[in-house]
Amino acid sequence: MNYIVFDLEWNQAPAGRCRPNPRIPFEILEIGAIKLNAHRKTIDEFHETIKPLVYREMNKQTQKIVHLDMKELQKSKTFSPAARHFLEWCGEDYIFVTWGPSDIFELQRNLEYYKIRYDFPKPLLYYDLQKLYSLSLEDGKKRPALQEAVEALGIPETKAFHGAYEDAWYTAEVMKKLNIKPVLEYKSVDYYHLPETKEEEIFLSFKTYDKYVSRAFDSKEEAMNDKTVTAIRCTKCGLPVLHRMKWFASATGNMYYALIQCPIHGNVKGKIRIRKTRGDRIFVVKTIKPATEKDVEELKARKEAVREKRHKRMEKEKAARKRRKTKTAAYNSNK
Ligand SMILES: [Zn+2]
Repeated sequence: MNYIVFDLEWNQAPAGRCRPNPRIPFEILEIGAIKLNAHRKTIDEFHETIKPLVYREMNKQTQKIVHLDMKELQKSKTFSPAARHFLEWCGEDYIFVTWGPSDIFELQRNLEYYKIRYDFPKPLLYYDLQKLYSLSLEDGKKRPALQEAVEALGIPETKAFHGAYEDAWYTAEVMKKLNIKPVLEYKSVDYYHLPETKEEEIFLSFKTYDKYVSRAFDSKEEAMNDKTVTAIRCTKCGLPVLHRMKWFASATGNMYYALIQCPIHGNVKGKIRIRKTRGDRIFVVKTIKPATEKDVEELKARKEAVREKRHKRMEKEKAARKRRKTKTAAYNSNK
């Protein structure tokens, strides 16, 4: 299997000049890619610039980053033939590699806008090298810029950053340098095409955590009422076990946490992240992993903080109600 390491540059509506088209808020202007074989050796390269058809002017913020010139781009192919060329070049047996999750998402949004047929597997699994880099050399949570990784790994900076070809090239070089084997199981899930039915929902099991991606729901209340969404089992033996903490919402309401205890394998924590779909619905990403004593203490503190915040808010509301009441009473007695 080959690795298709790719990067995109895109433009967005120039501020104030024209309205963004919600079907294509980011218009791809450049595709760069490096094809690596299973041994991570470069076997081919791809580069196309694209003549824009949606936003004819460069967004000022975008122009500061990318080096593309609108006049020059007029000589390029439009997106449809360029993208078809790219998909054909990818071949049959490959997995995408990108720096961060946005390129995979925007590629599909542009393909859809131009009604180009593509048959990516469902679910589409890919390597987010930014995540693999973090898992391998940092804490697994940080998401460093590509240049930071290039510098840290001592890769010679012979090219300018923020070009699609150049960034794909650098990403491929990072992939070559990384001790990839231990983190290669941590594939990412594309969220552009979400599970449409309960049967299509995604369950992944990694060495250090389990992951679940739900279908879309109308509201988070509906999601949190779903048994599969809130199911939490020991990641090691799969037993449904004693709840130490039932699911509780974060202060913002976009996250839920829970804690269970397996009699054999100890504490296991669950985290549910509520995410927006491309429409106006929501879906859920749940991760379940073993919890350390420190994790347990942190969860307890978080729950307490949420409880306190809610308590304070209720007190405030109560005081406000009381003030209104006294005001009305005073008003009435003065009549
Ligand atoms: Zn267990």
